[in-house]
Amino acid sequence: MHRELTEDQLAIVSTTRDFAQECLAPYAVEWDQNKHFPVDVLARAAALGLGGVHVREECGGSGLTRLDAVLAFEALATGCPSIAGYTSIHNMVAGMIDRHGTPGQRARWLPGLCSMRDLASYCLTEPGAGSDAAALTTRARRDGDHYVLDGVKQFISGAGSSQVYVVMARTGGEGPQGISAFVVERGDPGLSFGPNERKMGWNAQPTRQVVLDGVRLPADRLLGVEGGGFRIAMNGLDGGRLGIAACSLGGAQDALERATKYLAEREAFGARLLHAQALQFQLADMATELEAARSLLWRAATALDDGDPQAPHLCAMAKRFATDTGYEVANRALQLHGGYGYLAEYGVEKIVRDLRVHQILEGTNEIMRVIVARGLTGAA
Ligand SMILES: Cc1cc2nc3c(=O)[nH]c(=O)nc-3n(C[C@H](O)[C@H](O)[C@H](O)COP(=O)(O)OP(=O)(O)OC[C@H]3O[C@@H](n4cnc5c(N)ncnc54)[C@H](O)[C@@H]3O)c2cc1C
Repeated sequence: MHRELTEDQLAIVSTTRDFAQECLAPYAVEWDQNKHFPVDVLARAAALGLGGVHVREECGGSGLTRLDAVLAFEALATGCPSIAGYTSIHNMVAGMIDRHGTPGQRARWLPGLCSMRDLASYCLTEPGAGSDAAALTTRARRDGDHYVLDGVKQFISGAGSSQVYVVMARTGGEGPQGISAFVVERGDPGLSFGPNERKMGWNAQPTRQVVLDGVRLPADRLLGVEGGGFRIAMNGLDGGRLGIAACSLGGAQDALERATKYLAEREAFGARLLHAQALQFQLADMATELEAARSLLWRAATALDDGDPQAPHLCAMAKRFATDTGYEVANRALQLHGGYGYLAEYGVEKIVRDLRVHQILEGTNEIMRVIVARGLTGAA
């Protein structure tokens, strides 16, 4: 089923990789240490078309396919998985507004999002509802021509810096059918943010609680139809999972290349370490496993592009496999650096810390197995 990459796709890879090496990689460790979110650099990424990869061109987007996007996110993550991961989330939200928004909503938010003058956050998780997202309790009460939102969202990437928040809230009864999606803006009265969480990785972007305290929104902030929010949220995650998987591959590919270079330079027992066949075999296995994950990811992206009914299962398979593989490969690259791998200045321990969370967010890898198993057993 695999085709060769087209000229355009090869250009996406080389342009994005050049950008990642020039504008992200030299600063990635410093941003991690200082917990700096480089929004100015994101605007430069947007100038390359990375702010609205799935958004139609007439709304300022790049109108790329899912396969194009995973190529771009893998290339971007070779410079910094944390920045690439946030960019993937931003694009997921922009894509949701493009796909489910009215013409007025698209005109209002997409130009700013595509240029990354405005950033976006995806607000599903709550303190008491993560994997079981359909149990969320944030309320949206209808009041005349308005909705009033109350609740707390947990672990929200980009929160505080983002201008646009797609918030899933309960307008009806229990379960997924009672959930609707809303667009909340940073300046809306009643919206506030928790402190920036102290985390293991993904330090080059903020993670905060989003607190909604009587946020009063005009009815035209509803995205899609009342009760359709859970479906919008899950559809968004199919593509989002591909993006996160691609970021794992990019981070791990970078770690593999660093390890190869390091072994070529490092001498022990009278020879370059790269001459040790035991270590060469490790590099060979790491490259093989990444290539296998890449093949599955491209297969899943193509299925989503083609509207294949199996796409959600394939996206879950690819997310689970690529994020587990990416983490393992990066961790082995750290080991191949010996003690230096443990030092921040070599950049590998940061990749390991960044990739660890890819196994947790946008659905944990256990939940990916639940989705795949449902496809096998036919369970709802
Ligand atoms: C840095 C970071 C950024 C994030 N960004 C966002 C964001 O931007 N927007 C957003 O909405 N959320 C975000 N999240 C939240 C993330 O998606 C959730 O943490 C994740 O979905 C898991 O939910 P939980 O933490 O409540 O864990 P829980 O659901 O409480 O799970 C705890 C453990 O139980 C396992 N488990 C739960 N149910 C099952 C089951 N049925 N079968 C097998 N195992 C199960 C889980 O896999 C996990 O290992 C982010 C999280 C982090 C850490």
